[in-house]
Amino acid sequence: MLIVIGIVIWQFIVGTSEVLSIEEFINHLNNDKVSTSSTQKIYNGLHIIAGSYTTGDGVTRKFTVVFDNTQYQHYFDNLESFKHFMSNIRTLSQMNSTFVTLIMNLLPIFVLLAFYVWMFSSMSKGGMGGGMFGPGKSTRPREIKSDVKFTDVAGINEEKTELVELVDYLKNPNKYAQMGARVPKGVLMEGPPGTGKTLLAKAVAGEAGVAFFSMAGSEFEEMFVGLGASRVRDLFSDAKKAAPCIIFIDEIDAVGRKRSGGMGASTNEQTLNQLLVEMDGFGSNSGVIVMAATNRVDVLDNALLRPGRFDRTIQISLPDIREREDILKLHARNKAVSPEIDWKRIAERTPGFSGAQLENVLNEAAILVVRDKRKMITITDIDEAIDRVVGGPAKKSRAMTLQDKQIVSYHEAGHALMGLKLESASKVQKVTIIPRGNAGGYTIMTPKDESNFSSKEDLFASIAGYLGGRAAEEIMFGKNKITTGAHDDLDKATNIARRMVTQFGMSSLGLTKYLTMQEESYGQTKGVYSDQVASKIDAEINTILEQCYVTAIETINKHKDVLELIAESLRILETITAEQIDYIDKHNKLPKEVIEEKNRRVVETKKKESGEILEFEPD
Ligand code: ADP
Ligand code: MG
Ligand code: ZN
Repeated sequence: MLIVIGIVIWQFIVGTSEVLSIEEFINHLNNDKVSTSSTQKIYNGLHIIAGSYTTGDGVTRKFTVVFDNTQYQHYFDNLESFKHFMSNIRTLSQMNSTFVTLIMNLLPIFVLLAFYVWMFSSMSKGGMGGGMFGPGKSTRPREIKSDVKFTDVAGINEEKTELVELVDYLKNPNKYAQMGARVPKGVLMEGPPGTGKTLLAKAVAGEAGVAFFSMAGSEFEEMFVGLGASRVRDLFSDAKKAAPCIIFIDEIDAVGRKRSGGMGASTNEQTLNQLLVEMDGFGSNSGVIVMAATNRVDVLDNALLRPGRFDRTIQISLPDIREREDILKLHARNKAVSPEIDWKRIAERTPGFSGAQLENVLNEAAILVVRDKRKMITITDIDEAIDRVVGGPAKKSRAMTLQDKQIVSYHEAGHALMGLKLESASKVQKVTIIPRGNAGGYTIMTPKDESNFSSKEDLFASIAGYLGGRAAEEIMFGKNKITTGAHDDLDKATNIARRMVTQFGMSSLGLTKYLTMQEESYGQTKGVYSDQVASKIDAEINTILEQCYVTAIETINKHKDVLELIAESLRILETITAEQIDYIDKHNKLPKEVIEEKNRRVVETKKKESGEILEFEPD
């Protein structure tokens, strides 16, 4: 610092020229080599002379020379050439105020200091994209007071009960200590994204009224080795001071991956090791409970799951129909909703939705209401919101040619027919030919029963369901007119077939499991098996698909009249409901809404033709 400051001051005074000693200067002066266009500055008793002189070989050089007052006076009085020179050159500035000089000289230092202060402070703030030299000192984890209560979490009742005990412990740790009971140190919550894991951890903290330290696994991930580990240390030392409290590590899979020994994993491994050390380091009754959440328990290092660390795992799955209803009702609490809405029906229509998606549905519905300046969320808003959450906003502006409409209507009707006619297929909830996202239209189907298992028959029916669209195209337009519209269906159908062969032991290849859950969850389609087996698997998958396709073709041929009715209804109404499909199936005719709409259009066309309605059509 001192060197830097010194240089800065010196630079400030003399600039970039050569600094001459007084003797050198006098020497040049006496040899008549100094230019008289030089200047003098006087700073508080210092005489700074700057100018240029010519060397022996004719080169001109810039110079600076500094006299103090006594030296100056001495030469001025005794050396005629100096006196003569000085009276010929210009004096630029004369500053004798100590204060001004001081300010002038210290200004760069202040600037420098301010810069350092700024740099250090932003450094210690750390975090993502923090200080200019990256993280220097790690961030303290955030301590939050949570005001979430168990009543803010709907469904997942069994899991909640399990956590009530934890709350009790956090409230009276002594009770447990006296009994010599060991309370779990770590609770790992595992489940798909958006199922309320974070919410549940907050609720535990909120119920117990204790401090809640929250950190995401990815926050430990830093480019600089060792930093993740120091964060872990900080986190635990802060938590111990604040006990009783909860440490919550969200998305722990970011740090807790299996240690591999591979390159590049070392920072994470240090972090993980530190985590293990810290978790071992505190006594089981120290009042600190570590909660963690992940959706990938299979990738976690086994050491994390040992007793004394995360010794309790809570599985949180996607909500079932009753839970969905509860979640919907919960989030509808603070919104103006029409009393006509039957939450049960909506829960039926949203299988596979997570809590977060359901919340999103209500939010989207509320936004629609605000956009249209209405007062209340209606069933139509919810319908549209569900579609948005599934496939993005409707592309009403995307013009569909009549031919496209024809194709899509039969394609979707094909899917719907499978749902209707195959015993084990899912129930059709809604069919639409309004394009959304990448899809030209889609059919929403929900399982008839909410069983946790699928039978071989169910899987066959699902595949046939996916292939129903293509089958309908083929039957209606011929083998050569089939379209690319089915590629997503084929993808899904193939996936099911592959799993039947490689995972579920449902093919002629027998019971061997060829693809582990882990391989599959990484999106791998090939496990550890020979190429011969691979080609057998491929052949088997194809056989299953072919078989299901035959089922689809046969079903459509058998119920072609129903297919026609569904497709026509779709072309007229664009979206048809489960009730309308049931009606078509039962009465084998168009539902009355479709007929009304059809008649309305006929009347309109007639009016147009007779000139009652003027219409300008571009040709
Ligand atoms: P996760 O951590 O499992 O990915 P979150 O806890 O962050 O999911 O959930 C996101 C949001 O979804 C919550 O803030 C809440 O609004 C909603 N949510 C999810 N599950 C539930 C539930 N069981 N009850 C009420 N709301 C839920
Ligand atoms: Mg979360
Ligand atoms: Zn399709």
